[in-house]
Amino acid sequence: MATVFSRILSGEIPAYRVAESDTCFAFLDINPVARGHTLVVPKQETDYIFDLEDVLLADLFSLCRRTAKAIGEVVPCARVGVTVIGLEVPHAHVHLIPINAIGDMDFKSPKKQFSPEEFEVLAQKIRNAVPSA
Ligand code: AMP
Repeated sequence: MATVFSRILSGEIPAYRVAESDTCFAFLDINPVARGHTLVVPKQETDYIFDLEDVLLADLFSLCRRTAKAIGEVVPCARVGVTVIGLEVPHAHVHLIPINAIGDMDFKSPKKQFSPEEFEVLAQKIRNAVPSA
């Protein structure tokens, strides 16, 4: 069965999409630990990130870099932090999280709540700020 991220890619499940390349795409995490928390995902359905081929891993981090620059422009922060977990969704992905302090990357803290309109406005701002490849 297709993963939830493949179902987002196909359009079967809605998401607040922010960036795309030939091989990867990015969208807002629906249960964000911080405003601007974004997932970057290879279109190819592979569970474990370190099973990706080098070229695809490079593509993934290239889209991470472009997306992180946009997040950093839109969401005031000291850094855009990078985390890989992958315990919930068996489809490789990178978490990009705007941070000002180490505690801002605490996945055990209560998730931030935003309305659909707030998610959409944020996604649009990030989308518009993504630099070209
Ligand atoms: P993990 O696999 O542990 O790295 O976590 C998976 C992440 O995917 C979590 O932060 C979820 O909030 C996020 N997530 C799961 N389903 C969706 C969805 N439909 N849209 C956006 N984010 C999602």
